[in-house]
Parts: sequence; structure tokens; C-alpha cells
Amino acid sequence: MRIDLITLFPEMCDAVLSESIIGRGRKSGAIEIHCHQLRDYAFDKHRRVDDTVYGGGMGMLMKCEPIALCYEDICRQTESKPYFVYMSPQGKPLNQEKLKELSEHKNICVLAGHYEGVDQRVIDTMIDEEISIGDYVLTGGELPALVFIDSLSRMAPGVLSNNECFMEESHYNGLLEYPQYTKPQVWRGREVPPVLYSGDHAKVDRWRYEQSLIATAKKRPDMIAKKELSQEDKRIICENVDAE
Ligand code: SAM
Repeated sequence: MRIDLITLFPEMCDAVLSESIIGRGRKSGAIEIHCHQLRDYAFDKHRRVDDTVYGGGMGMLMKCEPIALCYEDICRQTESKPYFVYMSPQGKPLNQEKLKELSEHKNICVLAGHYEGVDQRVIDTMIDEEISIGDYVLTGGELPALVFIDSLSRMAPGVLSNNECFMEESHYNGLLEYPQYTKPQVWRGREVPPVLYSGDHAKVDRWRYEQSLIATAKKRPDMIAKKELSQEDKRIICENVDAE
């Protein structure tokens, strides 16, 4: 997968995306990420990427032409036309389901907005999808873009050591992850559940599944309500989670 990010702060974004797991994924070639400076595509006298809003009002808006030129330049560099995502508080909520869907694209281009956002004509003519990281407003699209790119990149084959890492994690199958423990076996009088060091893998799997059900029912009843549950699942929840 190749991801291109259009931003006014490419160095900042590139620095974050060069660390740890994503940084190693980029080095190994499992994921390709390019951060582009939007200002490099502003060719008017003052190299402006923003201007005042028609109709009045406070703040500035990002202009169409630099975004169009930058995106067109990226299109020339990629194998296929990138799916163009605009990070926006007006977008569809970002969740694991949406990430699974978007991870099918070979090429994704992400636009981080700034100021009051971008000229509507960019959204109408170029953007394939607006994505939001939550019902609140940030000053710019860089943090949302980094959240999006990080969560998308870790699903690319080879970025994590084992794909099961993310398949077992919270949200992938509509459940939260089970509790996990590391050494020591007893910490300040609190022991790790004995089944986890029993050596019986079937029992460990069963315990983990049950704990996932219980954690989800306790912390996110909205997720449990959407999940198809067997009679046995319902019994486990009933016995372990107090009804509100
Ligand atoms: N005027 C816009 C509105 O009310 O919809 C908000 C603009 S916001 C101050 C500036 C930029 O931050 C946006 O263009 C977008 O890229 C980004 N942004 C802010 N909140 C966001 C969110 N919850 N999810 C994704 N992007 C967000």
C-alpha cells in the first residue's frame, strides 16, 4: 500500500511516521508513505494556499488550485489513481470497519485541512470520501491524518510481525480484547489467572474469548447489542455482567 499525505506540515508528519512500528514498516518496504508540502504547489505571486471566505466571516479557507496540482502530481507517481480522503469533522466516523474497507485500496491520498477547511469545490470534484476522527474540532487535519495513517498502515501485510496481532485486537471482530498480563506471575499479591500458564491452549483460547465478551458487555454495551451472540455467549454475559 502507498499513502500520500498533502499537508502544510510535512516534516512534522514525516517525523511521527518515521518512528517505531510504522517507521520500521516504511524501511522494510511493507508500506510506502510520502508527505507532500502543499505550498510547493502554490504558484501565484505570494505562493498562497489560503484566502478569505466569500460571503464574509472570520478565518481563511484553503484554495482549490494548489490542492488540485498536488493531487495531480501524486497521480502521476502512483500505479493507480489514489482514493482521495479529506480529514474533516463532517466526515464518516473512523472505525475498524471503515479501516478494513479502506485498506483494500492500493493507493490512498490524504488531505489534511487547515484554517476554516477547504473550498467546497475541492470536496465536490476531487474528494472520494470525508473521514472524521470524532465529533469535535481540531485546529488542523495533521493529527487526524496521523491517526488515520497509523491505524491504516498497521493493517498492511508485513507492518506488524503477524497479521493476527491486529485481528485479535479490540474492534476487529466487534469485540474488545481480553485482559493481558506479563511477568511477574504474582505482583503485589495479585496473581495472573492460572489458566494462562496452564499450557492448555484450547483452555486459554476459550478463556480469552469469554473475557472478550465480558469486557465488551461491561465497557461497550452498544457493541454487544450489535453482535450476533450464541446462547452460550449470552449465558456467559448474564453470569458475569450486572444488568444496568
Ligand atoms: N470549518 C470546519 C467545520 O466546521 O467543519 C472545521 C475546520 S477545522 C478548524 C480545520 C481542519 O482540521 C479541517 O479542515 C480538517 O482537516 C481538520 N479537522 C478538524 N477536526 C477534525 C476531525 N474531528 N476529524 C478529522 N479532521 C478534522
